[in-house]
Amino acid sequence: MRRPRVIAIAAALCVLPLTSLGQGRPAPSRTELAPGIFLFSTPGYGDVGLDGNSIAVLSRDGVLVFDTNGTPGASAAILSEIRTLTNQPVRWIVNSHWHWDHWYGTETYQQAFPDVRIVSHEKNRQLMMGPALAFNKPFLEEQLPGYIQSVEKRAAEKPELAPLLAADKAFYEQKKNVHLVFPDVTFTDRMEIELGERHIEVLNYGRGVTPGDTFAYLPKEKILLLGDLIVNPITFALSGYPTEWLRVLEKVDALDATTIVTGHGAPLRDKTLLRATMEVFRVLLKEGKAAKAKGLDPDQAREAIFPGLHDLMVTITGDRPQMNGAFKSQLVDWYLHRVYEELDGPLTDAISKIPAS
Ligand SMILES: [Zn+2]
Repeated sequence: MRRPRVIAIAAALCVLPLTSLGQGRPAPSRTELAPGIFLFSTPGYGDVGLDGNSIAVLSRDGVLVFDTNGTPGASAAILSEIRTLTNQPVRWIVNSHWHWDHWYGTETYQQAFPDVRIVSHEKNRQLMMGPALAFNKPFLEEQLPGYIQSVEKRAAEKPELAPLLAADKAFYEQKKNVHLVFPDVTFTDRMEIELGERHIEVLNYGRGVTPGDTFAYLPKEKILLLGDLIVNPITFALSGYPTEWLRVLEKVDALDATTIVTGHGAPLRDKTLLRATMEVFRVLLKEGKAAKAKGLDPDQAREAIFPGLHDLMVTITGDRPQMNGAFKSQLVDWYLHRVYEELDGPLTDAISKIPAS
């Protein structure tokens, strides 16, 4: 198979300074969570995609990377940073779930470290190898190219849109040419990795935002790497498992963590956001059930329940208007639709569609 040009360029640039990586993209931001444990956050791709957090756990005997970004370009930028921090190889990758922005950059690590082991829950592997690709297909083949055409038209009249157009196009090139690498080590409920001085628990507590949510707990450092089990600030509740998800988070809450890294956004130094999100789930489970019994449809239920969530919303969003809108659609609306589906019968592991409202 032809080696995609963009990937070849990104790989070749690994030794160059960060500013020359990723076709002029800004470097990822780096936060040291504890000595030798780094969170990398990647800026969005123009206006067409957000990337997931990626965490490097360094040790005297190799590196573990938790989540591998949404494009090979983004993971190459992070690998370049890791190389400035250690001479050790990346030995382990953990992928939290099937959403593209957490694993489409794995190829970078596999090319650089052919012996790297890629761990995820057995259901993630199944989803990544089929249903996730089908879910992404309309976006990649229709919506994204269609949207880029519309930006191209606008940019013809407004030259200031040229950088946005370039960023959107670069993202499309990356996504089109990605060489997917699937997990080759799967687990069911827990797995423990001893890596030099690190002890890393890789866990699944049942179905949450996805059927195979994989998270990591480092008990010595009291660090939790949660993937999208919650997101800072607004959890993305598409196709989740309402009752089981709350149970998962209650067990997560019981872990002795002082730093929590969610799938996107800044790290958390306490459990305020976790607990506020759980409380939103509790209200939606209880009131969604009552609304359905009264004969309301999910959209009517959302409008009836939403005002009562005001204080929790402000805790989560800081009352920023744009965030409040996302809270209502991506958390309240999507979670409620799944509450309704769950009340109609057991939920399968299939990926559900985005509600129309
Ligand atoms: Zn995500």
